[in-house]
Amino acid sequence: MSGPTDRPFYAGLMFDIAKLKVAEGAKFKLRSIDPQETIGWDGDREEAQAQTRELNGRLEELQELLYAEGVHRVLFVLQAMDAGGKDGTIRHVLEGVNPAGVKVASFKKPSSAELAHDYLWRVHAQVPGNGEVVVFNRSHYEDVLVVRVMDLVAKDVWKRRYHHIRCFERLLVDEGTTIVKVMLHISKDEQRERLQDRLDRPDKNWKFDPRDLLAREKWDAYMDAFEDAIAETSTAHAPWYVVPANRKWYRNLAISEILVQTLEGLDMSYPPAPPDIRSMVIPD
Ligand code: ATP
Ligand code: MG
Repeated sequence: MSGPTDRPFYAGLMFDIAKLKVAEGAKFKLRSIDPQETIGWDGDREEAQAQTRELNGRLEELQELLYAEGVHRVLFVLQAMDAGGKDGTIRHVLEGVNPAGVKVASFKKPSSAELAHDYLWRVHAQVPGNGEVVVFNRSHYEDVLVVRVMDLVAKDVWKRRYHHIRCFERLLVDEGTTIVKVMLHISKDEQRERLQDRLDRPDKNWKFDPRDLLAREKWDAYMDAFEDAIAETSTAHAPWYVVPANRKWYRNLAISEILVQTLEGLDMSYPPAPPDIRSMVIPD
């Protein structure tokens, strides 16, 4: 396979995903990123949509290869504020891929059985196996986000979790998992509009959860928690990408680029055919 930047497969505009990546150990300021921006992309909306369609075709091929080869494991972690676009992003990513090789794991409020264990117990049980892609809809990062903001454990308890998470992800990577972590970054105004839409549209009412308003009240505390979590755990082997997500067409393009470029970076090939395949005859 070719490397991530060779682009042998289509003649699209270049999208520099490195601009969305948070460098390990760098001073990271979430508030310096404008959720309205289209960082790394010079084209317009139509060009973005055309490029996204092509990328999704490529993603299908790469996922098929990953599944057929059965060697690599891919973990895609998605975090966002409520109405940040996780569901839409997951629908977008899964469009066209082979469902046999892709799974979504959603992490809700822990059950009593989950709370009776360490916080990574339920997470480790969902990580991808050989040839699989697993999308985490929320993740172990809730244990340093909602848990911190809503004071569910003491400060010294959530603080030491950054270290656990770095080690946990190192373990997964050492054992053959590729990890990509994305924060969908929307503005507080955008969230208001999306929540209002859930109130106004009968077909979206089911998505409205009054508890989302409690989290909205603590917006600034959440931004601090996201900023620290990302700064503490973005590493070369398990990087965070912060994707400005007010514009859905840009968000979809960025996500497709990140996934395609990540999969292109894996050294994959189809498993060898049985040696005598050319001489085999299918009986009538
Ligand atoms: P949507 O964005 O469509 O509302 P969702 O991801 O918010 O979907 P919900 O079932 O509404 O799904 O909410 C899941 C809730 O569980 C979130 O409020 C989240 O913060 C909470 N949660 C997840 N993990 C934990 C955890 N470890 N501790 C406490 N709360 C958690
Ligand atoms: Mg919710």
